[in-house]
Amino acid sequence: MSDFGNKTVSSYIKDYYKNIGSIAPERIAEREFGFGSFANRIAVRHTVFRNDSELRAYLIDTAPLHVDYSAAYYKHPEAPMDKKEWLGSELRFDIDAGDIVKLPCRIEHGKEWSCDKCLDAAKEEVIKLIENFLVPDFGFSTKEMEINFSGNRGYHVHVHKESVLSLDKPAREEISSYIFGNEPDYDAFFYTVRIDPRHEKQMGPRPSDGGWRGKVAHAFLNAASSKGDLTSLGIDKTTASWIFRNIEAVRKDINQGNWDFHPIPNRKEVLVNLLNRQIINQGNRIDKGVTNDPSHLMRLPNSIHGGTGLAAKKVPSLAALEIFDPMKGAVAFKTGELKVRVDSRYKLSINGREFGPYKNETLELPAYAATYLYLKGLADILNSN
Ligand SMILES: [Zn+2]
Repeated sequence: MSDFGNKTVSSYIKDYYKNIGSIAPERIAEREFGFGSFANRIAVRHTVFRNDSELRAYLIDTAPLHVDYSAAYYKHPEAPMDKKEWLGSELRFDIDAGDIVKLPCRIEHGKEWSCDKCLDAAKEEVIKLIENFLVPDFGFSTKEMEINFSGNRGYHVHVHKESVLSLDKPAREEISSYIFGNEPDYDAFFYTVRIDPRHEKQMGPRPSDGGWRGKVAHAFLNAASSKGDLTSLGIDKTTASWIFRNIEAVRKDINQGNWDFHPIPNRKEVLVNLLNRQIINQGNRIDKGVTNDPSHLMRLPNSIHGGTGLAAKKVPSLAALEIFDPMKGAVAFKTGELKVRVDSRYKLSINGREFGPYKNETLELPAYAATYLYLKGLADILNSN
């Protein structure tokens, strides 16, 4: 990082805001805004704007590295926290590739970098969040949601349905725990019924059940079509083979909620294990802190992310998300070249081109690649005069 590099990035940010259309969120005058600089991620808070042109004038004038706005609407957004008078908050979800466990590429490239695989994994989690939870379990329609690329290695989902606005912190905590899938209550999933003095029958969830019960039953039947998947859920090999061979009969039983299809040694232990693993596999790795806090500040859609130089691009629909490539679609600094010295062991794929790795090399790169590497701390921007 250098004065010259910072100034260059700032001038690109200024140009970006000069050329962008409207950037104001809904109900702009009731939101709190915060801004970050090179020195400080959140340097300014409690700022207000009456309309889009006021906000844009500020962005062009100050070229902030980060722009955040509140999930909350306030009567006095400019006041200190205890004087703001809360009117309601959107429900927000933050999915970051850094929180997704078991991403093999992260072991290769470490925490500081993100690759196409990280971005695809984050996208998959967002689709899962919407399709497996927000729509079926909470009854939100995709029209009541906004999907935004975070500008770095994840996505944000905002729900602005009227009925969520008044939810307090405990209600938001309940929602995030449900989606995260913490500590399932065994008795809410499995129970036994006595059929005669010597036998009891194992009952459990049906795929047609709502919420987590249906998800667990579905996932079990999906796993049952492969022996390897069943053993990875903790079922012994012999039982797994039997289930695999008799899948149609097993499916029929489970459709009725009958989990007594075959004698399983240590049944309860196996079922507890299966339940925990299913819930870990299917729970969504949202950042609970973001969802739980009604006054959280989050990056403004379509603003520049100061850690990458990419735009936190709004994605218009779930269908658009399926084909969205952030390393193309979120490129903001499209024109110009910059002279840089780069030392990076990573290959950067951006705007349909590949750059690097570079071993302490001096060269000219397109502005989007140069600023990305500079903001990741892997390059210096050099004065070419
Ligand atoms: Zn990766």
